[in-house]
Amino acid sequence: MKKKKKVVILGGGFAGSIIAKQLEKEFDTILIDTKPYFEYTPGILRTIIKPEHIKKIQRLHNHYLQKTTIQVTNVVRITRKEVILQNNQRMSYDFLVISTGSTYELPIKDENAIPASRADTLRSYHQRLENAKKVIIIGGGIVGVELAAEIVTHYPQKEIVLIHSKKRLMQRNRNKTITYVESFLTKRGVQLLLGKKVVAIEKDNVTLDDATIEPYDLAFVCTGIKPNFTFMKKTLSTNLDKRGFIKVNENLQLKGIKNIFVAGDVAGITEEKTAQTAEKHAKVVIENIKNLERNKKLIEYSSRKRPTIISLGPYTGILETDNATITGLLPAVLKVLIEDKRVRKRA
Ligand SMILES: Cc1cc2nc3c(=O)[nH]c(=O)nc-3n(C[C@H](O)[C@H](O)[C@H](O)COP(=O)(O)OP(=O)(O)OC[C@H]3O[C@@H](n4cnc5c(N)ncnc54)[C@H](O)[C@@H]3O)c2cc1C
Repeated sequence: MKKKKKVVILGGGFAGSIIAKQLEKEFDTILIDTKPYFEYTPGILRTIIKPEHIKKIQRLHNHYLQKTTIQVTNVVRITRKEVILQNNQRMSYDFLVISTGSTYELPIKDENAIPASRADTLRSYHQRLENAKKVIIIGGGIVGVELAAEIVTHYPQKEIVLIHSKKRLMQRNRNKTITYVESFLTKRGVQLLLGKKVVAIEKDNVTLDDATIEPYDLAFVCTGIKPNFTFMKKTLSTNLDKRGFIKVNENLQLKGIKNIFVAGDVAGITEEKTAQTAEKHAKVVIENIKNLERNKKLIEYSSRKRPTIISLGPYTGILETDNATITGLLPAVLKVLIEDKRVRKRA
């Protein structure tokens, strides 16, 4: 029997988990992840309010992968031939998939956790939130807005301050969406500090660029993602853009290297970094690895704006498409159904 080709997948998030699951029947698959489980990141904000929700949004890799070898460790370096792990183990590959995603501040993402320590961290933030009188959220993109809405819905009596460097929240969204969000939050008493930058964060206060000092009991930093790329710095740095995203061609291959593919947040494609996009990349990578094996033509990834659902607590949401903003309970329910569907994909 012909020996199966070896596919090494770095990172078991939205992209890596699906790639491993889809390829394990045909290939010798190895998933390397810093943590032993898939976590549904969009559901994490609710766990700060309801820590027990974490059980619904985590799946151990070894529960949904039957044939894949799983290694829980950090990838420290990759070359054109090998992957080098934290314990100095060297691993060769026929195909390599880089899907190491992006980092976010605690408690939103935690790359070096096991389920028990992750649950402890979330419970500890929940307790701090329960005790806090004043909460500061730094960053008014979708994540900061969703978090502010989640907190104010459950704790309407708390003082919540949302600080954003731009004049309007979520400035990449439609005007109608922004107006709805700003009104939702201010009506519920969230104080918006717009056009102000945080220049220093101390233990119990932040300093703004106009020298104002805002004290707080609990602060959340929601200023955006950072790509996980350090394992490429020594050997393949010319494949990184200025911010550390990995340059890819239209087939999602590393430029100039046929057997290395990139999927998810870490891919250097100008588009919103979302779970649905990561899963679209995954589809292209799965097809293209199979196509390479069969000497078939590779397919191309085409980036386009996709509908977004923003939740404003459990009972209100916004569904935004290119030319419509639909608000109310329906988008909130849709978001819960999508969460359920995406987690079940890893069952
Ligand atoms: C709070 C929040 C809410 C969001 N809400 C939505 C939403 O409603 N809808 C939507 O579509 N998108 C949403 N997103 C975006 C979405 O979560 C990301 O786009 C998605 O997680 C990207 O998937 P990924 O597979 O690229 O990477 P990730 O999910 O980041 O997974 C990467 C994996 O790689 C591992 N890893 C990292 N470095 C290494 C290394 N050196 N060695 C080994 N393993 C490594 C990590 O531990 C992780 O398991 C949200 C994001 C946040 C932060």
